[in-house]
Amino acid sequence: MTYISNINNNMNLNKILKKNDLKRDEIEFLLSLSDPVDIQKLFEHAYQVKCNNVSNKVYLRGIIEFSNICIKDCNYCGIRKSNKNVKRFQMDKEEIVNAAVWAYENNYGSVVLQSGERCDPEFICFVEDILKAIKAKTDNKLGITISLGEQTKETYQRWFTAGAHRYLLRIESSNPEIYSRLHPSDCSFQERVNCLSYLRATGYQVGTGVMIGIPGQTFANLADDLLFFQEQDIDMIGMGPYIPHHETPTADEAGNFNSETQLTLGLKMIAVTRIVLKNINIAAATALQALKYDGREMGLKAGANIIMPNVSDTKYRESYQLYDNKPCLDENSTQCKSCLTNRVLGMGEEIEFGKWGDSLHFKARCK
Ligand code: SAH
Repeated sequence: MTYISNINNNMNLNKILKKNDLKRDEIEFLLSLSDPVDIQKLFEHAYQVKCNNVSNKVYLRGIIEFSNICIKDCNYCGIRKSNKNVKRFQMDKEEIVNAAVWAYENNYGSVVLQSGERCDPEFICFVEDILKAIKAKTDNKLGITISLGEQTKETYQRWFTAGAHRYLLRIESSNPEIYSRLHPSDCSFQERVNCLSYLRATGYQVGTGVMIGIPGQTFANLADDLLFFQEQDIDMIGMGPYIPHHETPTADEAGNFNSETQLTLGLKMIAVTRIVLKNINIAAATALQALKYDGREMGLKAGANIIMPNVSDTKYRESYQLYDNKPCLDENSTQCKSCLTNRVLGMGEEIEFGKWGDSLHFKARCK
């Protein structure tokens, strides 16, 4: 993948890092840094901004990927509707609630419920029922984020009332042209943007994000993505490098995919997002770990403050592959916990067990 850049080479990194409000071309400049020394400087600065604004504490969200049944046919995603090679599954209520209780008992503080997209009444009731059951079983003490795609205002409200308080809906790309290249014609960019405002109006802490390093994407596009987050006054970011899935159309456009370059680009985007948006929550996505075994920990050092360890039963993980080389397919939740704890502590970071770790940006905007 080649990145085209029109940025001004006379810009000075040290000067830009000292500035408070970065302009689009300065953001683009930071994203396009290529000298390893400069990139390291960028990461260190972002880490400092993180410590000053949200501390060096890492919050956990145990992720439960409870179903891969999906009505959408996104061109990049391994579980897209038309991928006939995927064995479809749906965890039952008991399995989902048990996974959440495991996260609670292991002091994770929060869970994320994610699945392929459905919006039929049966699914809406199922999710509502699960949210209530998790709240009841954990004495209302477990934080719940959901990531269940585009829904109506009414559905967002029902799930909010049932106990979810954070919602992650990635815009995937804030550029309508790239968005339409990534999605079939029945997906509307504007509707996805509308969903972000419904979520905000409902009272959720709103998370969005993009895939980084999509074929054809430029540094300028990524700078615009960041400005989109700012304009939407987003509370949390979940974004990660795009990784081809061999059974999808977008993979055919990915050309010479280079894990190292893709990882660095993902980390730079995290760092610049932290520098610009300061007090939001930023997740170190699992896709970073798919590119390098300690990619997520590198994300923490570049400005992320959230990690989402998988707490789904291992028997389902293989069927929830959004991209190739998904890590930890055969590692159960207990193994994941100890492996992750050691790695994070090894990086000199602290895990804040048992806390929701809500977005400070959200708290500030609700005052
Ligand atoms: N159905 C939900 C959840 C989607 S899966 C929704 O639409 O919000 C969660 C995220 O995985 C997606 O938002 C997308 O950004 C990411 N993803 C999917 N395929 C990917 C790929 N090939 N590489 C990297 N990330 C991918």
